[in-house]
Amino acid sequence: MKLPIFSITFSAILFLPLGHTTDHSVPEDGGYSRCRCLPTDYCWPNPSEWASFNASVSGSLIAVKPVASPCHDPTFDQAACEDAKTNYKSSVWRGSFPGGYQQVNFETSAVKNETCYIDTPRPSACGQGNVPIYAVAATSPTQIQKGVDFARERNLRLVIKNSGHDYLGRSAGRGSLQIWTHNMNSIEFSDSFTPDGCKWKKGEEAVTIGAGVQLKPLYSALKDKQKTAVIGFANTVGAAGGYIQGGGHSPLGPWKGMASDNAYQFTIVTADGKHVTANECQNSDLFWALRGGGGGTFGVVTSVTIRTFPDSSMLALNMNTTIPDRNQFYSFVADFHAFLPKFSDAGGSGYYYVFHETKTLIIAGLFAGQSNPNATEALFAPLMQKAREYTNSQVDWFQFPPFPISVGVDIGLTGSDATGGMTLLSSRLISRKFLESADGPKKLSEVFKAIGPNQNTVFLGHVVAGGQVARNNGIDSAINPSWRKALTHLIFARGWDSSTSFQEQAIIARNMTDVETPILAALEPDMGAYINEADLNERHWQKVFWGENYDRLLEVKAKWDEGELFMCKPCIGSENWDAESICRK
Ligand SMILES: Cc1cc2nc3c(=O)[nH]c(=O)nc-3n(C[C@H](O)[C@H](O)[C@H](O)COP(=O)(O)OP(=O)(O)OC[C@H]3O[C@@H](n4cnc5c(N)ncnc54)[C@H](O)[C@@H]3O)c2cc1C
Repeated sequence: MKLPIFSITFSAILFLPLGHTTDHSVPEDGGYSRCRCLPTDYCWPNPSEWASFNASVSGSLIAVKPVASPCHDPTFDQAACEDAKTNYKSSVWRGSFPGGYQQVNFETSAVKNETCYIDTPRPSACGQGNVPIYAVAATSPTQIQKGVDFARERNLRLVIKNSGHDYLGRSAGRGSLQIWTHNMNSIEFSDSFTPDGCKWKKGEEAVTIGAGVQLKPLYSALKDKQKTAVIGFANTVGAAGGYIQGGGHSPLGPWKGMASDNAYQFTIVTADGKHVTANECQNSDLFWALRGGGGGTFGVVTSVTIRTFPDSSMLALNMNTTIPDRNQFYSFVADFHAFLPKFSDAGGSGYYYVFHETKTLIIAGLFAGQSNPNATEALFAPLMQKAREYTNSQVDWFQFPPFPISVGVDIGLTGSDATGGMTLLSSRLISRKFLESADGPKKLSEVFKAIGPNQNTVFLGHVVAGGQVARNNGIDSAINPSWRKALTHLIFARGWDSSTSFQEQAIIARNMTDVETPILAALEPDMGAYINEADLNERHWQKVFWGENYDRLLEVKAKWDEGELFMCKPCIGSENWDAESICRK
C-alpha cells in the first residue's frame, strides 16, 4: 500500500510507534555498528529527521504497508480491500506498490511471526513482516543518491525493489528503507551507441532503459521500432534490475547470448552516493560484476544500455505427449532429453513441462531467426515416432507459420504474470555433456520420477542455453560459468497457503533444500544453478551460483561497497551476515 506520509501539514501519527528497546547504533567492532538500525532502536531517525529527508528527495518518501493491510483492522478500508482481493494475483497490481511482493512469503517474517494475508479474518493482525518501512519512490538518480547517503549515514538496512518478482526475496527486508525504481521508465533507442569513454569503438544499435522498465513495455517499444533484444519471457519482470544483473536468460539466448552478454553499459549509484558509469572502458570491474553478480549488491543501477537487433523471423511449435504408463512416460522423458543436443544444434530454444500427475510432457519449441517449418518438422519426426511407439500414447503436434519475433512475443505475453502465491524454487543447470552421455538422460528422468510424487511436482525446463550462450564463453563476466556448458535450466517449486504455519513452511523448505535439491544436484555436482530462479537456502550457494567467480566478486564488492551497505541473501559477502542481513555475524 502506498501512503504519502508528508504533506504541507506534517502528521506525526503516520510514524510507526517506536519501542526504543535496543540500540544498534553503538559501535562494537572497529568503530562501526554490527547491526542495522531498526524502527525499535534509539538510532532510528526521528519524525523530523524523516521529514527533512523527505524534503531532500522532493517529497518522494512513502510509508509502506503490506498490500493486504486494507483488509485488516485498524486500517480496514472496504473499497481498497475489495480492490486488493480482485487484484491479489495480478503482477501489474502488486508491482504498483512498494509493499507489493510477487511471492507473498517475502511479505511475511518468520523471525517476528508476522503475516498480512488477504484471506484471514479482518480482526487478525496485519504484520509488517519483511515489507520495508519506508520507500523512496525514485524518479531520478539524484533522489537515489540522497537515499543511499541517508541509509549509509543512519546505518539503515537498505533494499532495492524494482518489480518485486525476486524468487529469493532479495528485494524485501525487515525494518528497511527501500529504493523503489518502478517509476524510472525511460526507453531511448540509438542507432549508433558508443559506451562512454570508448570513443575508439564503432557505434552499434542499442536501447537505454531506465531502472524500472518492465519486459512487456520494452518488447512493445522494440516492436514499434521493428527491433528485438535479448530479454526474458515475462510481462512485469524488470529488464534492468535483478534480471540482467543475475545474468538474464531468454528464449533468444541460444540465438544471441545471455541478456548480460548483450549489455553495453550500466549507470549506477554506488555505496558512496556517487553516480557512475560502468562499461568496458571505465569501472570495468564493476561492469564485470554487474553482469551476473546478482541484483541488490553493488549499488542501485539507474539505467542499462543493451544491444538491439533488427527484428527477425521465428518458428514456434508445440508437441504435447501423454503416456499413461508411468515407467514408459519417464522413459520418453529420457528420450526427449537425449534429443536436446540435436534440438540445440538446430538452433532450438524454448520451454517444457513434465507433469508427474498426468504423465504429460509439454514442449514449446522456438527457433529464432528461422523460417522453414519443414526443417523443424523433420527434426522432430524421430522423437514423435518414439512417442507414438509407447503404449496408448497420445501425441499432439502443432506448428505455427513463421512470424516476426516482435509480433510473437507481443502476442505471447498478455500483460500480467501469475503471481500472489507462496513459493520457493529449486533448480539446476544441466550440461550438454551430461545429456550426451549414455546414461545421463535416463538418470535425469529417474530424478523426475523420484521427486515427482511430492506435491505432484511439475518440472519446468528452460532450453535457454547452448548455441550463442555456449559460444560466448570468451566473454569475461560474473555469470555462473556453468551457463556456458548448460543446455537446460530445470526448476521445480514448493508452495503453501495462508493456513500453513511458519514451522510447517520450514519443514517444506528444509525438505526441498536438504532432501530434494541434493537428488537433482547429485547428477552433476559441479554444475550449480541460476541465481535468479533457485533455492534461497542452498547450502553451498557461493559455488552453486557463481562457481569460480565468487572470490573475484568478493574483491569487487569490497572495493565498491566496503561498508556492505547493499546486503541481501544469498548475495556476495552475505556469509558475514545473519539470515535477515540485519546483523554482522
Ligand atoms: C513470472 C516470472 C518470469 C520470469 N522470467 C524470467 C526469464 O525469462 N528469464 C530470467 O532470466 N529470469 C526470469 N525470471 C526471474 C527474474 O529474473 C528474477 O525474478 C529477477 O530477480 C527479477 O528482477 P526484478 O528487478 O524485476 O525484481 P526485484 O524483486 O525487484 O529485484 C530482484 C533483485 O534485484 C535487485 N534490484 C532490482 N532493481 C535493481 C537496481 N536498479 N539496481 C540494483 N539492484 C536491483 C533487488 O534488490 C533484488 O536483489 C522470472 C521471474 C518471474 C516471477
